[in-house]
Amino acid sequence: DATVERIAAGEVVERPSSVVKELVENSLDADATRVEVTVERGGKDGITVADDGIGMTEAEVTRAVEEHTTSKIRDIDDLESGVGTLGFRGEALHAVGAVSRLTITTRPRSDRDVDDARGTKLTVEGGEVTSVEPAGCPEGTTIEVDDLFFNVPARRKYLKQDGTEFAHVNTVVTSYALANPDIAVSLTHDGRETFATTGQGDRREAVMSVYGRDVAESMVPVEVDAAALPDGPLDGVSGLVSHPETTRSTREYLSTYVNGRYVTAGAVRDAVIEAYGHQLAPDRYPFAVLFLDVPAGDVDVNVHPRKLEVRFADEEGVREQIETAVESALLDEGL
Ligand code: ADP
Ligand code: MG
Repeated sequence: DATVERIAAGEVVERPSSVVKELVENSLDADATRVEVTVERGGKDGITVADDGIGMTEAEVTRAVEEHTTSKIRDIDDLESGVGTLGFRGEALHAVGAVSRLTITTRPRSDRDVDDARGTKLTVEGGEVTSVEPAGCPEGTTIEVDDLFFNVPARRKYLKQDGTEFAHVNTVVTSYALANPDIAVSLTHDGRETFATTGQGDRREAVMSVYGRDVAESMVPVEVDAAALPDGPLDGVSGLVSHPETTRSTREYLSTYVNGRYVTAGAVRDAVIEAYGHQLAPDRYPFAVLFLDVPAGDVDVNVHPRKLEVRFADEEGVREQIETAVESALLDEGL
């Protein structure tokens, strides 16, 4: 029943940034080398994610918007695929379609061996497929989500101001851009480009595209394997941390990835800040883009899958390892 469906969709789709997250993940799963995100009014009026991934045939895209359909096989215990998408397997596109006007334009990539290589445009309005027709379009997939929650007024009302919704979208797109320097990721808001990575570079280049040249050039590399860390759950820590003088007024810029997935982890943020010690001015925080290798059993992803917060079985051990890794990186640079 339509009401039940809309309530269920609300569990997956909380706000524009949750739509963006699902769509960008799908583009990455589809082997894209380019992902362009465009939003209007913080995503409330429009969200478009265009990719050059494997695309879909008419049969595939028709199936993709049905309930509980997925072309991917996932192991719920597998951290690699689990963090952040847990519980939403095969539900995202269906859920988005239930609470918006959804348009998917897609064509299978030419290197795929499919019977039907034509492009297709499919539209869904409030959960009903309203049209499926052939379309002239480039290879890959473009998904447009207009008027999010047009049919769920209570949800629509709960959305924050454009700037706040956009800040959430920006955090999501930034996190994928930083984690995937080999993919060209861009974000545009109300016609203005917020950032665009080239997809050609390394982590530092991605940081430069997102945060600017000054920040990127001052950042210090972190590259520590298990042997150089104190005892603890982490097998390795790598990434970039900022020069002690390149700071921000919030902790937002401490990005953490566990086994390649973006997460938030209070213990990690605290430890990074701790590593700078008295070098940080009061109420100033460093930038960091840190990738942690963690055996699956040592991280608890169930704290709040949608908010991406993770806890570690041995929080104290993680803290010490991060602090050591960041301290030694700063020391290596004479800081
Ligand atoms: P899931 O990602 O868990 O499989 P979704 O509802 O997000 O579920 O997507 C349903 C299916 O639609 C995917 O399994 C995939 O086959 C297809 N799909 C979605 N987005 C894309 C895309 N950008 N490119 C190619 N296929 C896609
Ligand atoms: Mg998905």
